[in-house]
Amino acid sequence: MHKDIATPLRTKEILGKYGFSFKKSLGQNFLIDPNILRNITEFAGLSKDTAAIEIGPGIGALTEHLARTSGKVVAFEIDQRLIPILGDTLSPYDNVKIINEDVLEADVKAIIDEEFAGYEDIMVVANLPYYVTTPIILKLLMERLPIRGICVMLQKEVGARISAKPGTKEYGSLSIAIQYYTEAEMVMTVPKTVFMPQPNVDSAVIRLTKREKPPVDVIDEDFFFTVTRSSFAQRRKTILNNLTSQLPSGKEKKEYILEALSNSGVEPTRRGETLSIKEFGALSDALYPHFN
Ligand code: SAM
Repeated sequence: MHKDIATPLRTKEILGKYGFSFKKSLGQNFLIDPNILRNITEFAGLSKDTAAIEIGPGIGALTEHLARTSGKVVAFEIDQRLIPILGDTLSPYDNVKIINEDVLEADVKAIIDEEFAGYEDIMVVANLPYYVTTPIILKLLMERLPIRGICVMLQKEVGARISAKPGTKEYGSLSIAIQYYTEAEMVMTVPKTVFMPQPNVDSAVIRLTKREKPPVDVIDEDFFFTVTRSSFAQRRKTILNNLTSQLPSGKEKKEYILEALSNSGVEPTRRGETLSIKEFGALSDALYPHFN
């Protein structure tokens, strides 16, 4: 086994050798604690039959743990300066492919088809760049990739919103969007001291396991997401007031909304944060005929 990249000493050595300077704008906070990396790969449930997708390998701290514990790794790295460094640090591993691309622009589905033929178990595992956590997770879920799930480090506050249950102050349209596709768990919180440089916020690891099918069967998914977003537009407002101000205008709009609330068994004075995904599903289907 080779010496870990993710120790303070080795990381400093690599950064010094290449004269690398961190770009804050790319969310570059590298992990310098091998124990945390072991925890992440364990939570991800990897084996040699698993193919792993990583976003933002940095200098390869997590990538090498993925290379050791899974069958094959494909990693997307936006920063071109890191590509030669990764070529060096990951040279002991022959099951890693680095793609120098912005993951938000990449055709991930085509890359899975091309690189992971024969793998039935595919996991996304990453220490995400924090400036773009939510768009990355939503992209991976909405493109309906053939993955088992996503196990990633992110800002603790975003992790709390993603895994929040109804009735809590963190629960909102992000919790619903993600829990529509997955079962979400926050599996670990992580101190700032395991990063170089240290981020300003606390971190956590979340595990998202894709559902076989959504927890509610809705007429139109896009409309369901419009209704959930509208319901949380102003958290202190009632669901009736939020929907009335957010849904497209038209004659008798308020009457339609009141009727739909009544048909789906939701009191108009409730707030969005008290509704379960199932209640939002019923409400969105009741509203659908009047707004489409
Ligand atoms: N995995 C490494 C680690 O744990 O030490 C680095 C993680 S660092 C938090 C995030 C990495 O994502 C950086 O290497 C950064 O350059 C890269 N990155 C930022 N935006 C990206 C994007 N849109 N697509 C791909 N990689 C990105």
